[in-house]
Amino acid sequence: MTNPTLVPFNIFLWKISSRCNLNCKYCYVYNSADSLWREQPRFMSEDVIRRTAQQMREHCEAHNVPRAAVNFHGGEPLLGGVAYLRQVIDIIDEVFIGSNTNLDLGIQSNGLLFTPEIGDLFLERDISLGISLDGPPEINDLNRIDHRGLPSTKQLEEKLVLLTSARYEAIFGGFLSVINPFVDPLAVIQYLLSFNPANIDFLLPLNNHDSRPAGKENDLHTTSYADWLIPIFDHWFYSGSNTRIRIFDSIIRLVCGSSSLVEAIGLDPVSLVVIECNGSIEAVDTLKTTFEGATKLNYSIFEDDFDTVAQDIAVRNRQIGAEALCQTCRQCPLLDVCGGGYLPHRFSAKRGFDNPSVYCSDLQKLIGHIYAAVAGELSQPTLELASV
Ligand code: SF4
Repeated sequence: MTNPTLVPFNIFLWKISSRCNLNCKYCYVYNSADSLWREQPRFMSEDVIRRTAQQMREHCEAHNVPRAAVNFHGGEPLLGGVAYLRQVIDIIDEVFIGSNTNLDLGIQSNGLLFTPEIGDLFLERDISLGISLDGPPEINDLNRIDHRGLPSTKQLEEKLVLLTSARYEAIFGGFLSVINPFVDPLAVIQYLLSFNPANIDFLLPLNNHDSRPAGKENDLHTTSYADWLIPIFDHWFYSGSNTRIRIFDSIIRLVCGSSSLVEAIGLDPVSLVVIECNGSIEAVDTLKTTFEGATKLNYSIFEDDFDTVAQDIAVRNRQIGAEALCQTCRQCPLLDVCGGGYLPHRFSAKRGFDNPSVYCSDLQKLIGHIYAAVAGELSQPTLELASV
């Protein structure tokens, strides 16, 4: 019998390709503690695609989920080419004929394999394409290199000209950008905004208490990541930009009592599940940065359903809010906004996930700054930050 407290999944992250044409230095799939990708087939097979779509439909309809997102990731999800992408989409469409659940399909890509044929397919099927880009070439090429160690940004810029052209701009979903506190934040935001993206997701690097973030190796109280994000926030907040920067939007929404837009902040239950190329169902994939096998739930799309997975303790721990957090976070005055930060950032071998985020001091400073800016706009008193 289904647990009445079960939180249904509504974000399904499909790893349709397990290999990549880039070899980014910080990549959590290929250059981290976990090497299980080597056991994966190169592409998701037709059987896995069909079974995953069927299981998704059953789960969404059983829980009256009106809208669900399917995000295709990799590796590099464009690696299979237009014919493979069409096959994946056709199977999902076929399985969802007559369903009450509407699907939003999106792809997160490095963009290098984008072609007019892929653009036409995505236009025809209303699929959004997000691009990973950390800033202008001299910044992006510090990490985003190919397997020969060569830079990738000049080639990507040619693809961005095509993607942001009048023909394809409707499918351009925006940028995913990894923070580098050693580069000029205004150079990054001005460059990214020059492409007029609908969204930008800034990600804190996938470090933890055992593998500390660059610049915080000796002192976790330093705030170089907040100090990098704050000028970007000010530039964005006071310019009235139409681009949505989800980490900032989420904090603003949370300080105003609404919900977060990202998994990395806030106490909202996590409703995301990952389906690997071989049909195994896994926990949040960025946990690969913590320890070998961290994402493994030992479920398969052929033997288990999403209800069973949703009731697994590892999944429930990401849905029970403050109860799953360490004592320090539970007593923190910023708890309702911060939510303890992103799960992989809390890890240490000694205490597991029973720690505040390794970016705690940055989160405190950033949230305090945004709160003050919002309060200033609303003429509210400022938030008192406690030292934790
Ligand atoms: S600011 Fe720090 S202590 Fe407070 S909830 Fe976030 S991670 Fe935990």
